[in-house]
Amino acid sequence: MKPTIFTRGVPPRESLPVDALADCAHQVVLENGPEILQYAPAAGYQPLRELIAQQCSVPAERVLLGQGSLQILDIILHCLLRPGDEVAVEQPTYDRVLTLMRRTGLQIMPVPLQKNGLDLGKLEDDLKNGRNIRLFYVIPDFQNPSGRVMTLEERKELIALSQTYQFTIIEDAPYRKLRYSGEDVISLFDLSPQGVIQLSSFSKLISPGLRVGYAVLPQNLIKVINEYASDTYINPSYLNHAIVYRFIANGYMQDHLAFLKALYAGRLQTMLSALQQQLSGRCTWTQPEGGFFVGLWVDDAMRENIYSKNAEEFGLKLSDGRGFFVTGGENFIRLPFCALQTDEIQDGIQRLSKMLTT
Ligand code: PMP
Repeated sequence: MKPTIFTRGVPPRESLPVDALADCAHQVVLENGPEILQYAPAAGYQPLRELIAQQCSVPAERVLLGQGSLQILDIILHCLLRPGDEVAVEQPTYDRVLTLMRRTGLQIMPVPLQKNGLDLGKLEDDLKNGRNIRLFYVIPDFQNPSGRVMTLEERKELIALSQTYQFTIIEDAPYRKLRYSGEDVISLFDLSPQGVIQLSSFSKLISPGLRVGYAVLPQNLIKVINEYASDTYINPSYLNHAIVYRFIANGYMQDHLAFLKALYAGRLQTMLSALQQQLSGRCTWTQPEGGFFVGLWVDDAMRENIYSKNAEEFGLKLSDGRGFFVTGGENFIRLPFCALQTDEIQDGIQRLSKMLTT
């Protein structure tokens, strides 16, 4: 039996705009070759910086383009913090970020995502009691791994806390533009353009293999982060930046985004219907309106069945839910839906139901 792969949140092969990218690559090498094939400043290809700066209403000097957004986050953690410093994250959160934070020697304070939202009351109590949080890393839109969107009230409350207690907010927003229904909630960055560092990426919008991500930095961090980036990798790939720039400037992006949304919206619906059919009353899960993931919490009575069973015997590959938690997570399963066909999603959820109930 071919296993259903619920482990990786990657875009599917059929989502990659191969022809358009071939066109853009051909064009940029011929038109711009000597510039983009040379060593260059670490901040990245200027036309793409300017385009992002325009979208974010900031000067281009605040935009740092990198090799994906994850590495920029690593650099920011290195430049801003010292081993032993305390940082806060939503719990659950993106597992690789927990790895980066641990590797940097940071102490991680989890702020639980509960049924009624992010427990900012607990964070405030801890801050009042003298806890010194230096930074809060948050994925407000279609969170990895839960699929949740932060409410406007939570966004405002988090910003108010960051101003009172003087911590930096990092808003990681790679899924923000992948909304399949409902209305956008204003970003943390737009609520506080000076106080929030925004990270985003073209990995989910065009191709992860291009490794093009970016940060919008506050003025006081531009120099130090550029220098660190330059000392680490000299410059990111201008060739790839130029391809992404061309993709947008040639008008491919709008149609491609519409194509992705149509493709993924159907897969999300299939996932939610399959969960309703198979696991209603026995598990709880999020109802995302976009992104790549549904987060599933298994009821206590069945929690044992996650780790006592070998998922592969049931035809499943699952991530260990504990990887997304600082503490706990034994009853959590992340379900990525974008890279699976309709029948794979239906079979996968049926197998999951069997594994959890037998
Ligand atoms: N942040 C989040 C929340 C992600 O889910 C991912 C990809 N899984 C990344 C960052 C990494 O993005 P990039 O490919 O730009 O490094």
